[in-house]
Amino acid sequence: MFDTTPGLVCAHHHLYAALARGMPAPPREPQEFTEILELVWWRLDRALDLEMIRWSARLGALEALESGTTAIIDHHSSPNAIEGSLDVIAQACAEVGVRVLCCYEVTDRNGSDGAKAGLAENERFLRAGGPGFVGAHACFTLSDETLDAVCGLAADLGVGVHVHVAEDLVDAPAGDRLADRARDDWLLAHATHLDRTLPGTVVHSPRSNLHNAVGYGWPARFPRVALGTDGIGADMLDEFRLAYVLARDIDLGTTPDLTWSWLETGAALVPGVLDDLVTWTYSPMDPWHLAYSTGVHPLQVEVSGEVVFDELGPTRVDAGEIRARAAEQADRLFRRMADL
Ligand SMILES: [Zn+2]
Repeated sequence: MFDTTPGLVCAHHHLYAALARGMPAPPREPQEFTEILELVWWRLDRALDLEMIRWSARLGALEALESGTTAIIDHHSSPNAIEGSLDVIAQACAEVGVRVLCCYEVTDRNGSDGAKAGLAENERFLRAGGPGFVGAHACFTLSDETLDAVCGLAADLGVGVHVHVAEDLVDAPAGDRLADRARDDWLLAHATHLDRTLPGTVVHSPRSNLHNAVGYGWPARFPRVALGTDGIGADMLDEFRLAYVLARDIDLGTTPDLTWSWLETGAALVPGVLDDLVTWTYSPMDPWHLAYSTGVHPLQVEVSGEVVFDELGPTRVDAGEIRARAAEQADRLFRRMADL
């Protein structure tokens, strides 16, 4: 007897990070959060081209299906391959059969031309009917002028903004910067050190927060919380279990129902997943069981009535080919990083 659920949602992902595993060590050991960005992620994203983005997105989408995740809310950055990048991601996910909401992260860290190109990519993709948000990196790399441009574009297009908020103490002033700007349809990634409640949905990514040692933000203090992975795969049952034990560490009264409700918030962000059907290796798919059940995997995944994953793997694409081609692109990416 196997149980079924709707598709799961990863509400904050960086699909380009699918190629990052096994990357060479940075030139020196990062000592704090901003150094993790400067020495690892901003070196990696500058080296991305569209072919690397294509295979990272295919790999990330494949791994999502393998975890019963049928929708990804992606946050993309590739400063030397901005134009068309969101189309590449949307197409790659569609080929695998995973829903994706895209955005390009606008930032001033690559100069005003970089910020303008990022805004233009969001606008181009969204005006063409692509589903998503206007993306922004984080307040600490955005001038007031650029932040206003992000907010203005989102308002014009009738979509929300997807932005990292107070992930580390360095971005703690974000609460003040966003107090009069944030709206209910915004996605506020992390909010670890956010000093107030803002309109929008907080997206908690417990594994990433632990990995970057940014601290615990006690997400239960916010009225609306979803779960993301921040680029470390898309296994949302795993993220749910981790969110649960982290919350228990602070408050022993935390129940699995609380962190399961954060997965349900994800479904509210991408309601199409309620039409998706995942058949699991475990029954019952109940939060009080799943909090203590590791290794639960999908047997079959249906997206909009089509079986896109079964006991043999993905039905539309060749998993072995995706892994092999993604590994080639990762090698190319690492060589380019060394040259930059
Ligand atoms: Zn992130």
